[in-house]
Amino acid sequence: MVRLYVILWGTVAAAIASSYTYILWGHPYAIATLIGEAFFVGLLLRHQQPNLLLLDGIYWVCIGMPLIWLFYGALMKMPTTSVWLILLKQPVNGMFNALIASLLIAHLPLYKWTNRSPVSQTLSLRQILINLLVAFVFFPVLTLMVLDSRRVFSDGQTQIQLDLTNLSSTIATEVVLWYQPHVQALEVLARAALQSNLMPSEVLQEATELVHKSFQDFRHLYIVSAPRKALAVAPPLSEGNKINSQCPLNSSSPVLGKAGRNSVEIKLPIVRGQTNLGCVVGEIALENLNQLLKTATSNSEVQITLVAQNGYVIASTIQTLVGTDNFDISQGGELPHLSPITFQQLPAELNLPLMVRWQKSFYIHQKPIGDHLPWNLVLKVPAASQIYYLQNIYIKQLAVMLLISILGIGLATILSQRVVRPLTKLKQATSNLPNELLESEAIDLPRSGVAEIKSLTDNFKLMAGSLQQKFTEIKQANEQLEATQTQLVRSNRELKNFAYIVSHDLQEPLRKMKSFSQLLARECQGQFTDNEKALRYLDYIIDAAQRQRTMIQALLNYSRLGRNDSTKVAIELGAVVEKVLDDLSIPIAENQATVTVTDLPTVQASLSQMAQLFLNLIGNGIKFQGSAPPKIQIKAHLHSSEWLISVQDNGIGIKPQYAERIFQIFQRLHSRSEYPGTGIGLAICRKIVEGHGGRIWVVSELGQGSTFYFTLPVSSSPS
Ligand code: ADP
Repeated sequence: MVRLYVILWGTVAAAIASSYTYILWGHPYAIATLIGEAFFVGLLLRHQQPNLLLLDGIYWVCIGMPLIWLFYGALMKMPTTSVWLILLKQPVNGMFNALIASLLIAHLPLYKWTNRSPVSQTLSLRQILINLLVAFVFFPVLTLMVLDSRRVFSDGQTQIQLDLTNLSSTIATEVVLWYQPHVQALEVLARAALQSNLMPSEVLQEATELVHKSFQDFRHLYIVSAPRKALAVAPPLSEGNKINSQCPLNSSSPVLGKAGRNSVEIKLPIVRGQTNLGCVVGEIALENLNQLLKTATSNSEVQITLVAQNGYVIASTIQTLVGTDNFDISQGGELPHLSPITFQQLPAELNLPLMVRWQKSFYIHQKPIGDHLPWNLVLKVPAASQIYYLQNIYIKQLAVMLLISILGIGLATILSQRVVRPLTKLKQATSNLPNELLESEAIDLPRSGVAEIKSLTDNFKLMAGSLQQKFTEIKQANEQLEATQTQLVRSNRELKNFAYIVSHDLQEPLRKMKSFSQLLARECQGQFTDNEKALRYLDYIIDAAQRQRTMIQALLNYSRLGRNDSTKVAIELGAVVEKVLDDLSIPIAENQATVTVTDLPTVQASLSQMAQLFLNLIGNGIKFQGSAPPKIQIKAHLHSSEWLISVQDNGIGIKPQYAERIFQIFQRLHSRSEYPGTGIGLAICRKIVEGHGGRIWVVSELGQGSTFYFTLPVSSSPS
């Protein structure tokens, strides 16, 4: 379910992201291939956990590229070049994106932003190798491709400009070569008119007819004088035809003008000194000029137009333009300049994709003919062929890139397998290592031709061997230890039971001894000869029995300590001490003792045992007092992870060599007559403290008072 959920969202994201292609290109096929990519990769990624890049490559080669061929080639019937371009460009794009995604997933802390565990983000060595290898191929090749395609593109543009410039120069020369002889002929006639003093003469008429015959393109030739008088005409004027006898007045050079649909008129002024005396007029047919333009280049795509300054089309390779007025090169779209005389004419529809605008654009080159000929030569060539050329180069580059990427992925897969397979085997062999070592199984370690992995495996073998040996030793020692411990626990339990039973059962005969001795003492009073002596002996017996009873009672208390372990709760030691002082109020008062208590903590402990501990220590402080009235100070310090509690007195003190002995059971340093007691109090203290995970010791000098220290673990609950 979760898998489907993730795939679903991945696919939805792909659908949203790719929907812009519909707006851009106006068809849904790119969306289909991109959704297919997300779905396929998502599905396999969940099932097999391999490399994103590898899966993307598999998708494009097996599904994406055939789909593109189907959509763009078969359904949309796009030109083959465009289909190839898309067929190669989309996989390269997709794989590039997959590579970037892999690198981002691997090297950005995405798990922090998506609240996923970092483990799910770890990459296998194989994935890292594939990513790296492909990245090392992709980035340089892509950079080179971008740089190269820029170069190819600008080279192409430069070449086109160069071609157009060459062509325009050639055509301009040819046009001038066509034009000049006509002007020269008119000049000859002008000179003849001057010689005849601008009077009609036979010579002039003959000369005019000769020129008309010699120049095929002269439709009409006539010479007029300033008072608009025709001096010569060739061919003769037909009925009703009149001569347009207006001569240019202010110019000494030929003036060009529109004549008919397919002809121009040249008026050459006849000048003497500063005065225009008349003009020679020649109407020139333009068929030959048109033919000249048509044969100027073998490239049929180039449109050549010759335009007069007023926008009148003199001649053109496009028949429909010839003779039209208002020629405007900026018609039909924008005109970004490539050079002062070369432009690119982009179609006016701005919403077209850039590639399509380029494909529909033209290069336009405009050049004045010069040499007194006020015409412009306009060359127009469609950019489509250049785009086609560029597309072919891109196709080749993309194909190489795709091939390199696929080879890169394949190579990386093989290479990584060589490195990774032994490592994976090593991982498998070592994942259950402790158990295998314990069970003394032979560990199957991989062999590898890679030196580092081989030495790793060898080292591992050595390590496993020595570990196995150590494990066996530890196992044996452990078993031995366990057996000893079981024995120890049993004997300890028996010992405790024994101490308990002994102390419990021994009390009964003692009680009897004591009570019967007392009975005997009472009943036999006055019957003994040496009465006093006998009574004293009986007193001894009673006292000894009493003492033994006290000792057994103490022993019983001591052995009980370990048996009924009272539960530990959070207790305030300050309150415990207060209660103990209350219980000891009589001896404190009798001995004029002072007890000061500072900063006692709250600890996790047994209440009754803590009370017993303080009772014994404070009691001893009062009991073993020196000459001065007892002064007892109880303090606590926090020392690393435990409480250090001290009970200090100003009593008789203890020789340091007895510091350890006094904590043993029934060990006393004084006779009962000096200080009463059983010698079990400090033994109980030690048992209580150790039972709480602490230690107890004394620091003392004879006659200098004693300080008893004990530690308790810091309670986890707040104090
Ligand atoms: P008891 O107090 O019954 O003698 P304890 O186990 O409490 O038994 O003490 C053992 C011995 O340690 C005492 O007999 C005494 O000699 C010595 N001792 C204990 N506490 C002190 C103290 N505060 N000052 C001097 N000696 C002490």
